[in-house]
Order: sequence, then C-alpha cells, then structure tokens
Amino acid sequence: MKRVIAIANQKGGVGKTTTAVNLAASLAATRRRVLLVDLDPQGNATMGSGVDKAGLVNSACEVLLGECELAAALVSVEPSNFTLLPANQDLTAAEVRLLTLPIARETKLRNALQPKRLDFDVIIIDCPPALNMLTVNALVAADSVLIPMQCEYYALEGLSALLSTVDQIRIAANPTLSIEGVLRTMFDPRNNLSTEVSNQLLSHFGDKVFRTVIPRNIRLAEAPSFGRPALFHDKESRGALAYLALAGEMIRREEEAQTAQRAGSPASPPATDHGAAANDAAAHEPAPHVAAGRAGES
Ligand code: ATP
Ligand code: MG
Repeated sequence: MKRVIAIANQKGGVGKTTTAVNLAASLAATRRRVLLVDLDPQGNATMGSGVDKAGLVNSACEVLLGECELAAALVSVEPSNFTLLPANQDLTAAEVRLLTLPIARETKLRNALQPKRLDFDVIIIDCPPALNMLTVNALVAADSVLIPMQCEYYALEGLSALLSTVDQIRIAANPTLSIEGVLRTMFDPRNNLSTEVSNQLLSHFGDKVFRTVIPRNIRLAEAPSFGRPALFHDKESRGALAYLALAGEMIRREEEAQTAQRAGSPASPPATDHGAAANDAAAHEPAPHVAAGRAGES
C-alpha cells in the first residue's frame, strides 16, 4: 500500500476526522508507516491525536506557504505510532494567502509532500468541511479520495458537487485521482432510515461502498477528549474494531487489485466509474464486517 488518500466530504460532522485518526492508527497497527495530514483549521485531527494545536511552532500553514520544510513540522504520535502534520486556525490565513497567488496555488500540498512521499506507506489527509482551496490542494495531492457518509436524511445532498469537483481535478491537475471508497459512518441498524440510506448508497456506488460499516459508538466519540484513537482508548470497542476492519478491507482490496492486474483483468469496476456500477449491489450485499448491534454500546 503506497498512496495518498484524501478523506473528504464538504458536509460537516460526517466522520471525516474520526475516520482519518482511527484509520491512521489502524494502518499503523499493521506496521505500515503512516503520515496523517491535518488540513482543517479546526485542528480536530491534531487534538484527536493528542497534540496541542495551540502550541504549534510549525504546522500545515507554514508548510503550505513554503515557510518551512515538511520535515520541520512533523510530530511523532505515540503510542499510536504514526506521524502527524498538525494544524490550527492559522490554516485559514494560509488559505486566504493561497487564494491570492496567481499560479500553482493548487499544487502547494502535493509539492510539499513530495520529498517525504517514499518515507510513508500511506498518507491520509483530513479535509475541512468545504470545497475550498485546502480541499482542492488535498485532492490534487491525493491518489484517491475516501468519502465518509452518515446514513441519514440529506446524506446524498452535496455529493454531486464533491464528485464534480473530483472530475474537474482529474481534468485539470490529477488525471489518476480515483475514488478509494464510500464509507458508511455512525450507522445505527435500529434506525430504518439508516438502512434505507445505506441501500441508496449501495445502489449509487455499488462496489465502491466499503463492506465495513462504522457503527455509532460512544468510544469513538469520547476518544478524542483523551487525545487518542479509539484503539488506544478501548481496543475492544466496536468502534475500534470497525476501523481495524476497514484497514483490513483496504489492504485486501489492494492485494486483490494487484493480483488481478498481474493476471491482466480488472478486479473491480474502474475507479472513475462511480455512477452506475453494480446497480443491484444492494441485493448481493454481504454481511458487513462489523455487524452493527445496539447503538452506543462499546
Ligand atoms: P467536520 O466536518 O466538522 O470536520 P467531521 O466530518 O470531521 O466533522 P467528526 O469530527 O469525525 O466529523 O465527527 C463529528 C462528531 O461525531 C464528533 O463529535 C465525533 O466524535 C462524532 N462521531 C464520529 N463518528 C462517530 C461514530 N461512529 N459514533 C459516534 N460518534 C461519532
Ligand atoms: Mg473534521
């Protein structure tokens, strides 16, 4: 696994940061070298990793503006064993400065990550809840985009704007940008609406929907207040196990794709085919890896 994954959805509060932090910890637990990039001025991924966003000397802001080398801003996150590029509200000022640049403003992050790309197996970028210049920088730097979606009313609203941004970025700057997958978050099986929206996602995205479902789980919600991923807060919790399952699914998918490539046939529909793929996927949906039980339970 060697790639840059942007975690994006301009809708707020859908689980982007929770996914970024817990996926980083889960992939690190499989001995992969992981860099987590906080690209949100809220600095939630920074705080959720246990780093104080108020005390940063160098951060994503300075790196994006070319005021410091990436290496000078990186922080080791223990005990999770991943590396963090932290952020705080200064990033808002960086975005404003980027907007005033006449050229190359979309490629700042890609260029900044370049010298360290081979030092990591996976680079995960936590995007802000907006389709702004920060998110554009993330999508230009990324190989793929992972879209967390809360299974609730209006979940699909705004999705077409995100997908059309992805298409525009493919045309303008990053032709191989693919959809890593759509992740169902905060899933509550007792709620009929959750199941209905989940089925809608499956019919829209088919194989692009991760089979792993992230349940609504109190441990995932409280872990950031301890500055830890759920894996180091309560490793037996359903939330922690769900993100381990997601990491496992991503690794397995990649291995299958590589095997298929060697055999000369695609393992799954082309990454760009996010529309009509496997419209009947809902009917063939295997049991999710993390069977959602009672909501709120650890
Ligand atoms: P923003 O758009 O503001 O950056 P986000 O998409 O990054 O938000 P999170 O911050 O990850 O979303 O999650 C929003 C809230 O929901 C947080 O309080 C988080 O702790 C909680 N949360 C996220 N996932 C779960 C879950 N699976 N179970 C319970 N609570 C969750
Ligand atoms: Mg967030």
